[in-house]
Order: sequence, then structure tokens, then C-alpha cells
Amino acid sequence: MQTLPPPSLQWCLFLDVDGTLIELTDSPLDTFADPELKTLLSHVAERLGGAVALVSGRSIHYLDALFAPLRLPAAGLHGVERRKASGVLHGASFVDTQLDAARTAVRALLQAHPGTSVEDKGRTIAVHFRMAPQSEAAVRQALAAIAKPLGNNYHIQEGSMVLELKPRGFTKAGAIKAFLAEPPFSGRTPVFVGDDLTDQDGFRWVEDRGGVSIAVGDRVHGQFRLDNAAAVRHWLLAIAALHDSHHA
Ligand SMILES: [Mg+2]
Repeated sequence: MQTLPPPSLQWCLFLDVDGTLIELTDSPLDTFADPELKTLLSHVAERLGGAVALVSGRSIHYLDALFAPLRLPAAGLHGVERRKASGVLHGASFVDTQLDAARTAVRALLQAHPGTSVEDKGRTIAVHFRMAPQSEAAVRQALAAIAKPLGNNYHIQEGSMVLELKPRGFTKAGAIKAFLAEPPFSGRTPVFVGDDLTDQDGFRWVEDRGGVSIAVGDRVHGQFRLDNAAAVRHWLLAIAALHDSHHA
């Protein structure tokens, strides 16, 4: 794998969270951001003129709680929600009642498959099976049946030991594109770091625009690779340490 390009003050960063900034945990609710990570992210954001956004499958509400008191620009639910650098929120959290029948059906699904868990994010419903890998095929089949009556406006997003029912047409690539049209991101080179299948459209999008894609681990392919969340932090430290004299 190629050596990563030297960090630049001309970059803007788009960072996935789970599996990228923070190692995956057995339960999605055990996720914890340590103070060092928060400090590091705020330093990096400062160095890049505020052009750092979290691009996650989590809700923005969850990301704010996870990184408090830090409130970075963020895309949540794989692009369904987005908070611009100005603080304006698009697609703000609400509970999608069109998913109510699916909610009920998913509860029955969980009872049939001990170890599986649900993460109801209001506009999306994620079913995790990291603790019940043997149930993957059954969960996949059941969720497809649950999604069917919702028609083409919803689809199932694949992830690492997770399947998520979400509205179609929202992607991380779409969120990155929207950020790049606005200050402080516009005019900068987009760099996207992620670890999972939901990050791949974002990788291709930044690559097509002369940006940089960095895959964490070996689940997905980017132009460059970092081994794990610890390696991502090490890489972020180099950006935080950039000086204006490096400015080309
Ligand atoms: Mg991830």
C-alpha cells in the first residue's frame, strides 16, 4: 500500500466515527470518546480553519453527546441528517412514522434471535448482530421481508455486523458534496477516512474530485490505508502539528 500523502493545510477532512476514530465495540451503545480524542479533533479543526466534519451512521444527536462539549459540523444517519459549519441543521432528527410497522416487526425479530440488538435512530432502524453472528442469514432475510412493504423509498444499508433500514437517496457522498459547496470546506481538497461499506461511495466521490480516500482496516478499499483507529489518531496528530510555514 502506498505511503500516505503529507498532510496539508489545504485539506478539509471528512471523518467516519465508529471503526475509524473509535474502535468498534461489541455493543454499539458502549462507544466512548476519550478526552484526548476530543482535544485532538478540536486542534485539527483549528488547524484546518474549521473544515473538519464527522460523517457517520450515528445520529447527530448521538455524535454531539459522544464528543461533548465538541460540536463539529456533522452528517448523521449516513447523510440523512447534516449540520453545516454555520450550525444550520438539515433533515433534523424526527421519528419517521412510516417505519412504525417495521419497528414492531424488528422487535419480534430480536426476540427470535438472542444476541441481536436494535438501534432505532428515528429515521433509520439498525439491527446489530455482532454478538450473534450465527443469526446473520436469518436477520438478513427477515429484514428484507420487513423492508418490502416500504417500497423503493427505503433500502437496507450494509455495515459491519449490522443491517440498517434507511430512506434511499441519502449517502455519505451526498453529504460530503454538500459540505464542499459551502465554507469553510469549499476550495479545499477533500480527504475522507472511513472503514466500512457505507463509506465506499464517499471514497469514490472524493477520488473523482482529486481528493484523498483513506480506508481504515481491510474491509473496504481506498487509495491509502491506515491499520486501525490508533493509526488514524497518529495521522491526525501530524495534521494538528502543521505550521503555517508548511503552507505552499
Ligand atoms: Mg465506521
